[in-house]
Amino acid sequence: ASGYSLLRDPHHNKGLAFNEKERDAHYLRGLLPPAVVSQDLQDRKIMNNLRQYQVPLQRYMAMMDLQERNERLFYKVLIDNVEELLPVVYTPTVGEACQKYGSIFRRPQGLYISLKENGCRRGKIREVLKNWPEKNIQVIVVTDGERILGLGDLGCQGMGIPVGKLALYTALGGLRPSACLPVTIDVGTNNEQLLKDEFYIGLRQKRATGQEYDDLLDEFMSAVKQNYGEKVLVQFEDFANHNAFELLARYRTSHLVFNDDIQGTASVVLAGLVAALKLIGGTLAEHTFLFLGAGEAGTGIAELIALEMSKQTKVPLEETRKKIWLVDSKGLIVNSRKESLQHFKKPWAHKHEPVKNLLDAVNSIKPTVLIGSSGVGRTFTKEVVEAMSSFNEKPVILALSNPTSQSECTAEEAYTWSKGRAIYASGSPFDPVEYNGKVFVSGQANNAYIFPGFGLGLIISGAIRVHDDMLLAASKALAGQVSQENIDNGLIFPPFSNIRKISAQIAADVAAKAYDLGLATRLPRPENLVEYAESCMYSPLYRGFR
Ligand code: NAP
Ligand code: MN
Repeated sequence: ASGYSLLRDPHHNKGLAFNEKERDAHYLRGLLPPAVVSQDLQDRKIMNNLRQYQVPLQRYMAMMDLQERNERLFYKVLIDNVEELLPVVYTPTVGEACQKYGSIFRRPQGLYISLKENGCRRGKIREVLKNWPEKNIQVIVVTDGERILGLGDLGCQGMGIPVGKLALYTALGGLRPSACLPVTIDVGTNNEQLLKDEFYIGLRQKRATGQEYDDLLDEFMSAVKQNYGEKVLVQFEDFANHNAFELLARYRTSHLVFNDDIQGTASVVLAGLVAALKLIGGTLAEHTFLFLGAGEAGTGIAELIALEMSKQTKVPLEETRKKIWLVDSKGLIVNSRKESLQHFKKPWAHKHEPVKNLLDAVNSIKPTVLIGSSGVGRTFTKEVVEAMSSFNEKPVILALSNPTSQSECTAEEAYTWSKGRAIYASGSPFDPVEYNGKVFVSGQANNAYIFPGFGLGLIISGAIRVHDDMLLAASKALAGQVSQENIDNGLIFPPFSNIRKISAQIAADVAAKAYDLGLATRLPRPENLVEYAESCMYSPLYRGFR
C-alpha cells in the first residue's frame, strides 16, 4: 500500500507520530513534515484545539473528524479526557448533533438499513451487512430514531446515538472499535419539521408500522444472527416504547439482546440508590419511590428495584411493587383509572384515588426518592422539591431525562430549593453548584456507567442470553465502586475518570453471573475474571509498523 493511502486510513494512520523507520518503510517520506511527535503530544494538541471552540457542536464535529482521520488518537484523547469529552461525544451535545445531523453530516458512519432498499425483498439485509468492511462484529447498537433522548422522533438522524454509544463501548468498556457496528433502521419519520428540511438525510415518508415494521425488524434480527452468530450483542437504543418492550420480549429468548433504555438505565439507577442508602439509611424496601414518567426508563427501573427488594426480603414481587408509584402524562397511575393502561404500566396501578398532578402525588405518596424519567424539562418545580424536602431530611432526587434541556430540574435548583439537603444526580452532567458557601458536586445517573462494562462481560464470557440477574450483578458492581469519600461528598456515582477500572469490575461480575447461570460459552472459565476482563480491553496506543 502507498504511504498516501496509509495516511488516509483511520485504522492505521498515526500522522506525525510515524517514526523515521516507518516513514522509510512505508513510502511516507515527503508526505509528512520532518517533526516526529509522540501520541501524548498529539493528545495535548487536540485538546488545545478543542478548547478553542466555544460552541459544543464544533467540538463534537472536531471529534468526529478525528475519529475519521486517526482512530487510535480519537480513543486515546477520549479515554484520557473522559470527563471533559463525555458531554461532547455523548449527552448533551450528541442530541444537538442528531437534530442537525443532515447539515453537519460529512462522511457516513454506521450502517443504514432503510425500508426503501430493504423492505421489498427477503435476504436484502444480509447483502447490506456484507457491505460493511468488518466481519467480526461483537456489538451492534441499533436505533430506529423514534425517541432520541428526550428530543422525540429524529428519524434517520438518530444515527448519532449508535455512533456515540459505540464510541463509549470502546473508550469506557474496551471493546475493539472494529468489532462495533452502529445501525440505524430507517422506516420514515413522523417529524414534520425534518420531512420539510432540505438537508434531511432519511426517507421522506411517514413511519411504517405494524406488519411492515415487524417484518423488517425480524429480517434484521435474523440477518444479524446468520452473519455474526449467536454471540453478537444487539443493543436496542432509543426506540419508542410502543416498540421497545415488544422487541425485547420477542428477541430475548432467541438472541443476545439488551435494551439500554429499559435495562441499562435500571441497572445504573439501582446502583445509585444502593449507594444512596449509605446517606439516607434503611434498606431499599424501607423506602418509597415515585417516578415522573412511566415509559421505558421509569418502568424498567421500577421493575429492577422491585426485583432487588423481593430478593432481599423474600417478599413476592407483587408486594414489593407496592412501594413504587409512577406518574405519567395523565397523573398518578392507579387502579381506578378509567382508560386502559399500556401493558407495561399495569403492574404499577395500585389502589389509590385518582391524582392529577405530580405535586399532589408527592404530597399524597410522600416518597423518599423522586425519579424523573419523563423526557420533559422543568417538571420538578420549586413546590415539588420543597415538598420532598418538607418530609425528608435528605430527599433523593434523580432527574434522568436527557439532554440537559429536558432535565426535570437542574442541580442548582435541586440544591437551592432543598436548602442544600437533596441527594441529586442527573442524566446529563451539571457543573458544581455553590449554595450557602458550600460547593455541591452532583453525580451523573447515566447508563454510560453500565452498558460498556455490561457488554464487555457478555462478550468475554461468550454469553448467549441476557438475564435479569446480570443486571443486578452489574448494579452491585457499580455501587461497590462508590467510595466512602464519594459518599461523604454526597455523590452516589463514582467519577467517570475511573471508568475503565469500573467497567472491568462490572464485566467480571456480569461474566461470573453468566457462568453461574450456564449462559456462558467461553470455556474454561478464567480464574480471575477482573484480570481477564482487563486483559481483553482495547488499548488506543499506537502499534509499531514493520
Ligand atoms: P418513554 O418511554 O417515552 O416514557 C416517557 C414517559 O413520560 C411516559 O410515561 C409519558 O407519559 C411520560 N410523560 C411525558 N410527558 C409527561 C409530563 N408532562 N408529565 C408526566 N409524565 C409525562 O421515554 P423513556 O425511554 O422512558 O425516556 C424518558 C427520558 O429518560 C428521556 O428524556 C431519556 O433521555 C431519558 N433517559 C435517560 C437515561 C439515563 O441514563 N439517564 C436512560 C434512558 C432514558 P405517557 O405514558 O402518558 O405518554
Ligand atoms: Mn437511550
